[in-house]
Amino acid sequence: MPTIFTHPAVPIAIGYGLGSNIIPPRLIVAGIAASVIPDLDVIAFKFGIAYADQFGHRGATHSLAFAVLLGAAAAAVAPWLRSKRLTAFLFVTVSAASHGLLDMLTTGGLGVAVLWPYATERYFFPWRVIVVSPLSLWEFLGLRGWRVIASELLWVWLPAAIAFVIIAFATAGRRSRRS
Ligand SMILES: [Zn+2]
Repeated sequence: MPTIFTHPAVPIAIGYGLGSNIIPPRLIVAGIAASVIPDLDVIAFKFGIAYADQFGHRGATHSLAFAVLLGAAAAAVAPWLRSKRLTAFLFVTVSAASHGLLDMLTTGGLGVAVLWPYATERYFFPWRVIVVSPLSLWEFLGLRGWRVIASELLWVWLPAAIAFVIIAFATAGRRSRRS
């Protein structure tokens, strides 16, 4: 995985880029949660479920189907999120789906069961540029941790910042044309 701090880059960039009229604060929080929830599957290790199992790490919870499920849950509670149902659905689905897709860019571990339950194969993208974060905190605190952070800044936060600027400009442009 990229680190738990980096997955929220996607909902933060899209959410703040679109602005609070479209993505209210509660929906941003839901999107951030959806972007890290897939990694709760590491508890599978504690239950003796193998990494490669469909319910192991980077398995079912990293699939597009699971992302749609979280999106549907967000749509169901959309009034509480102060959001339109379709907006809640799309934003949370994209936030959750981005998790598995970012993991598919990492240099280590097993691939992602992105097509579960249709297929249980694990996939990577052809270009794997994000240095994988070690699963143990101790390993992370060494030199390896710095390489992970540098690579996440370059390959996730920088593109997210660029996306934020583009989305914010496009959204502001639309708003000013309407008024
Ligand atoms: Zn992950």
